Amino acid sequence: MSKKFVFSFGKNQCEGDGSQKYLLGGKGANLADMVKLGLPVPPGFTISTEVCTYFYQNGKSYPSELKSQVESCIKNLEKDLADTGMKFGDRKNPLLVSVRSGAPVSMPGMMDTVLNLGLNDETVQGLIEQSKDSRFAYDSYRRFIMMYSDVVLNVNTSYFETALEHKKADLGLDLDTELTDDHWKSLVKEFKSIVVEQTGKTFPEDPMEQLWGAIGAVFSSWMNPRANTYRKINNIPEHIGTAVTVQAMVYGNMGDDCATGVAFTRDPSTGEKKFFGEFLVNAQGEDVVAGIRTPQPINEESFNDQNKHLPTLAKVLPIAYQELVALYQKLESHYRDMQDVEFTIQKGKLFMLQTRNGKRTAAAAVKIAVDMVKETLIDKKEAVMRVTPEQLDQFLHPRLDPKAKKDLLAKGLPASPGAVSGKIVFDPDTAETWVKEKKEKVILVRIETSPEDIHGMHVAEGILTARGGMTSHAAVVARGMGKTCVAGCAAIKILMEQRKMVIGNREFQEGDWLTLEGSSGEVIAGKVDTVTPDITGSFHEFMEWVDDVRKLKVRTNADTPADAKVARKFGAEGIGLCRTEHMFFDPERIEAVRQMILSDSRAEREKALAKILPMQRKDFFEIFQEMRGLPVTIRLLDPPLHEFLPHDEKDVRALAKEMDVPYEQLYRRKETLHEFNPMLGHRGCRLGISFPEIYRMQVRAIVEAACELKKKLNQDVEPEIMIPLIADWKELQYIRTYCEEEIQKVFQEHNVKVPYSIGTMIELPRAALTADQIAASEKGNAEFFSFGTNDLTQTTFGLSRDDSASFLGTYSEKKIFPDPFVSIDEDGVGELMKLAVQKGKGVRGSSMKMGICGEQGGEPRSVHFCHKIGLDYVSCSPYRVPIARLAAAQASVKNKAL
Ligand code: PEP
Ligand code: MG
Repeated sequence: MSKKFVFSFGKNQCEGDGSQKYLLGGKGANLADMVKLGLPVPPGFTISTEVCTYFYQNGKSYPSELKSQVESCIKNLEKDLADTGMKFGDRKNPLLVSVRSGAPVSMPGMMDTVLNLGLNDETVQGLIEQSKDSRFAYDSYRRFIMMYSDVVLNVNTSYFETALEHKKADLGLDLDTELTDDHWKSLVKEFKSIVVEQTGKTFPEDPMEQLWGAIGAVFSSWMNPRANTYRKINNIPEHIGTAVTVQAMVYGNMGDDCATGVAFTRDPSTGEKKFFGEFLVNAQGEDVVAGIRTPQPINEESFNDQNKHLPTLAKVLPIAYQELVALYQKLESHYRDMQDVEFTIQKGKLFMLQTRNGKRTAAAAVKIAVDMVKETLIDKKEAVMRVTPEQLDQFLHPRLDPKAKKDLLAKGLPASPGAVSGKIVFDPDTAETWVKEKKEKVILVRIETSPEDIHGMHVAEGILTARGGMTSHAAVVARGMGKTCVAGCAAIKILMEQRKMVIGNREFQEGDWLTLEGSSGEVIAGKVDTVTPDITGSFHEFMEWVDDVRKLKVRTNADTPADAKVARKFGAEGIGLCRTEHMFFDPERIEAVRQMILSDSRAEREKALAKILPMQRKDFFEIFQEMRGLPVTIRLLDPPLHEFLPHDEKDVRALAKEMDVPYEQLYRRKETLHEFNPMLGHRGCRLGISFPEIYRMQVRAIVEAACELKKKLNQDVEPEIMIPLIADWKELQYIRTYCEEEIQKVFQEHNVKVPYSIGTMIELPRAALTADQIAASEKGNAEFFSFGTNDLTQTTFGLSRDDSASFLGTYSEKKIFPDPFVSIDEDGVGELMKLAVQKGKGVRGSSMKMGICGEQGGEPRSVHFCHKIGLDYVSCSPYRVPIARLAAAQASVKNKAL
């Protein structure tokens, strides 16, 4: 038996249903469903998405069975309409059809449609006879020629529009509705000669030829630039293809008892439960969206400033309206989701042309999900699946006002979300002065940021960098602070000396306004209005359900008590990564830190460390206090030391004076710290091996803070001390031994003990491969693992996390591989993680705590992966905590842990 490619829907035969979206497309599947529900749907047939796949794999040709299957479906269609006597191509009583696209995932307006197909110079006479309305028939005919020529023959509609405008001008008329049948008839002639002029061929008169032309054009539109871009933005795979639905026409343009419109079963922008829509009397579908006439409201709930003076459908065609109300309720309870419906009323009779789950804003998605649980339409698990993590992200940050105009300059990486405007500044000191003294709002624009820029980043509204990827310093710090950041925007050139920025052929001076949209990576000229989300009402209820469902814990990466506080507000269940070095950049501390680094002897270093100790202890005390008993993982010093040093001669001289050492001596010491490849140099635990006194001081500060908390506030805390960049278990054993020595000393001095644990980050492939040795109690004795996937990605790929943004864009475009710093590379980095989990749990048992603290820890796909491989928690920047909570809940609904 030959394969079935075409599926009929109608009274006599209905071959598909709503579960077959991937075969019949959303439109085809839902039309079949509506027929089965007994709704008034014009009959038709759907050519499956498999034909689309075949079409592209076989030089735009069709499977051999297709022709006969389409022909037999046309016969079915005619049978279904037997009581009307209509036949495709019949001169006396022609059946006209629409040909539309329908992908498995809705892509509104991205592909092509042809209406009124089947008309020619003969069948138009039949249409006149049947409808007794020659104006309607010629109006339909000219619409068909315009649409078909545009979509199938590639003749630009502007030629036809110009001809129409000239005609109206010659006749002294303003509106299309004022044209008579004779006017349209003569326009049809003109339109046909335009086609001959533009294509060198006559307009096809044979309805069958027209049909195949339209089917081919709709399949071809799957690859048009609009559809390609839409798929890219929405992560819709190309291989799923589109179906083509051919359906008997019904007419909204047969007179004043006819209409066509679209409606939503709930408000798509607020989620409010109200039936809401627009329509036009005596019109066809495309007129509603074309904006030539202002659409009328279907009911009073749909009034707005533009349409409130116009009569509603409820008033104009009350019977059809009442029927529409009954049908929308039926559809919503069938699909158990907000529907976006298209309808046509022909001579007072209502037809449904389409229904689909309606697109909605983030706020509406949350409200609709919560309301539908209360209405017992869906359960809480389903509600959790109804809001995407991206929508939640949108929900939690200010966005550009959708009504505002924007002058888009360039796109960079969407490093940290939110929409902000400010005046351009090119260095952190100017940022600080302008904000503090001039009370300005600023955007800090840098080639790339370094830890020294932190004060400027802190006061800026947002940060824009020309270089650096999703885990670059700017991206990591901005995310942690909840600042908007667009990173790695290669299109900008910063001319520091002239204090200006060039994008293409446009120049921007310091002080010019700039707007950043951190969720899309857009860089926009000037100031653009933003809208602030309203996080009240349904949101909290929704998040409670999210927490009930998920298994993964969600912690935060927080370096200061202020960050910790924000993270708790967003629902963090502990700190997964406290990067102690970020505390070092405070202006009051950096001096002491620099002294520690530039000391020539251990004694001098210890003197400097003694100054830092109380400051660190105070930070840890406040962080523990803020986290009230929740786990806190503190990582000991990680970056190469020279990151903390002054770069300018002026600053080095000032420091020499302060330290009372000759400038030359200090300069030489600074030079000895220079490294060619600091990311793979003297950093992480390697510092702890060379200078145990640094880690001893940090461990002391941590444990003293915990003891103090116990003594003063009787509050328990179990610090998790984390050693970075371990490659071999002996490194950990060495460091652990002296840390424990220091901890015991603190217990004795304070006469109190607190529980603690010592573990490691897994950031190097060797650590993952030897995770059993690192975890084994007689070797490394790591009590927990935290996957530092920023470094693990960098070292697995051998890709610099700071330099790769400049070429990874090309990698994505050429489909080599996507930026692995955004979402965990499951095949490589992910395999190493799985191995480390197995090996770690293999030697210490399943209770060994495992988490992730790399930037991917807040990225939904990576969160799913972490759930699947059995991690206990993910840790991410405070502002991403709600997103990670939702992604974790969706992961538990979708899959069980391995
Ligand atoms: C990591 O490498 O993933 C990590 C969290 O550490 P950092 O980004 O500070 O190197
Ligand atoms: Mg790291």
